[in-house]
Amino acid sequence: MKLVLASSNHGKLEELRDLLSGEGIELVAQTDLGVDDAEETGATFVENALLKARHATRLTGLPALADDSGICVDVLHGAPGLYSARYAGEHGNASRNIDKLLEVLQGVPDAARGAHFYCVLVLLRHADDPQPLIVEGQWNGRILHGRRGDGGHGYDPVFFDPQKGQSAAEMDLQLKNTISHRGQALALLRGRLGQALRGC
Ligand code: IMP
Repeated sequence: MKLVLASSNHGKLEELRDLLSGEGIELVAQTDLGVDDAEETGATFVENALLKARHATRLTGLPALADDSGICVDVLHGAPGLYSARYAGEHGNASRNIDKLLEVLQGVPDAARGAHFYCVLVLLRHADDPQPLIVEGQWNGRILHGRRGDGGHGYDPVFFDPQKGQSAAEMDLQLKNTISHRGQALALLRGRLGQALRGC
């Protein structure tokens, strides 16, 4: 069975491909089928993932998988949230995004620096699918006062997991992939995908 991934991110494709290979599912990048990124005009992570999946399935005729993720800071009422990738203006500039977050949180004590990473994955079997498969994951922690560690990506150096006593950038990748928002969502997806695709 073929499934289109509604993302042009190569890292995500490899990660998901690996996960799905044992399920007899071949994951194809939308770019390889000539599909551009959809506009992310939704007001929530779920809406954006649905928009992306619907765009990909409509244009390819294949079932589509899409994800959306970000970091939400309690004292900022969930910001940067949907805008995590472009918090400092320029899309995907992780270093400037972190600088901005640290600046905005200057003087905020540890107890008020609670935050979580969030990830949603959406599977649409066709463009008019009334019953999308939606799974989510959340990873709770807090924002550090400065960077720690040099692994990972995005906001990892300033996201601290108090249970592990490490920032996400200090963590072994295998550990991060097991406990992270994305890891949790992927585990749920794996459990439900086969059933969702039966009869496709
Ligand atoms: P997207 O889902 O690819 O649009 O990612 C949204 C943004 O959220 C990324 O550019 C990162 O800034 C941030 N983000 C999502 N997941 C992670 C993570 O696991 N570590 C660090 N940053 C993340």
